[in-house]
Amino acid sequence: MTLDDLATLRQEAERSLERVHDLESLQAWDRDVIGAKGSLTAFLRGLGKASPEDRPALGRAANDVKTALVTAFDARKAELQSAALDARLATDAVDVTLPGRKPTIGVDHPVSQMIRELSDIFALMGFQTAFGPEVETGHYNFDLLNIPSDHPARDVWDTMIVDTPNSEIVLRTHTSPMQARVMEKTTPPVRVIVPGRVYRYEAQDASHEWMFHQLEGLAVDERITLADLKGVLREMARQLFGPNRRIRFRCDFFPFVEPGVDFAVDCMICNGAGCRVCKQTGWLEMGGAGMVHPSVLEGVGYDSEKYTGFAFGLGIDRIVMQRYGINDVRAFAGNDLRFLQQFAVASR
Ligand SMILES: [Zn+2]
Repeated sequence: MTLDDLATLRQEAERSLERVHDLESLQAWDRDVIGAKGSLTAFLRGLGKASPEDRPALGRAANDVKTALVTAFDARKAELQSAALDARLATDAVDVTLPGRKPTIGVDHPVSQMIRELSDIFALMGFQTAFGPEVETGHYNFDLLNIPSDHPARDVWDTMIVDTPNSEIVLRTHTSPMQARVMEKTTPPVRVIVPGRVYRYEAQDASHEWMFHQLEGLAVDERITLADLKGVLREMARQLFGPNRRIRFRCDFFPFVEPGVDFAVDCMICNGAGCRVCKQTGWLEMGGAGMVHPSVLEGVGYDSEKYTGFAFGLGIDRIVMQRYGINDVRAFAGNDLRFLQQFAVASR
């Protein structure tokens, strides 16, 4: 046991401390060198065996080495702890400049978006929006619309009948029953639109659904003419499809109007020249319309000599299909999110 042994012990301890790069190996170093079973501790314990003349010098030197190594250990420990803290802060850090994850927010169905757009357009022209029952009586769905039970036209609507004894309950085949419901509760002037679901007992294909959406329009007042109807529909087309749109009326028959017309808008894609969307006709069929039949006005107690009115019905699904180039009506109720999510942007 000599001063040289002590110097070697110190040198080795300092070298191995340099190689310590984490708190775990620092702990091991502590155990091996200055701990209860460490090399330096063993040296200090061994001092008793040294010769009495060497003992004081060896003792002093050993204590100096111990002080130096403990100081070095403390410094290394502080270093490593601060490095570990830095590393944890860097890992756990929240970068507030990163964009957040977008939550999935539901948006309106494309048909609902169109209903709202149409309501806004007609509101500008003084029309209120009303919603009616989807389960109707035959009285409102047919009788008050000038379609008595023995009328052959009743077969035109492929009706879904709710099976109840002694009364005729149907899923409404059009939004027209609200004409009578609104007029019964109102005295003219009447200006109302009724968007909503309607039902037909029909085979499904790309252009037919057993459930689809219609928008009914009704205006009743003194001196209402077909010109007013044309003006309102033209303005609707202008708002929906842009300026310079033209409206086409062709004679058609509906029991609750006289005269009756079908109406079309010139194709906004090809400006009437003919294209895929308008099936080369230059026109997009919108629906049926006409002057409210006097029998309908009388049926709700209006004086048909004093009041006249117009009514129209249009297919909402079809307008959405034309606008976005959708070629299968079944997509709307098919519940395929890949289809529906494409309209999330359109609603914002
Ligand atoms: Zn076209």
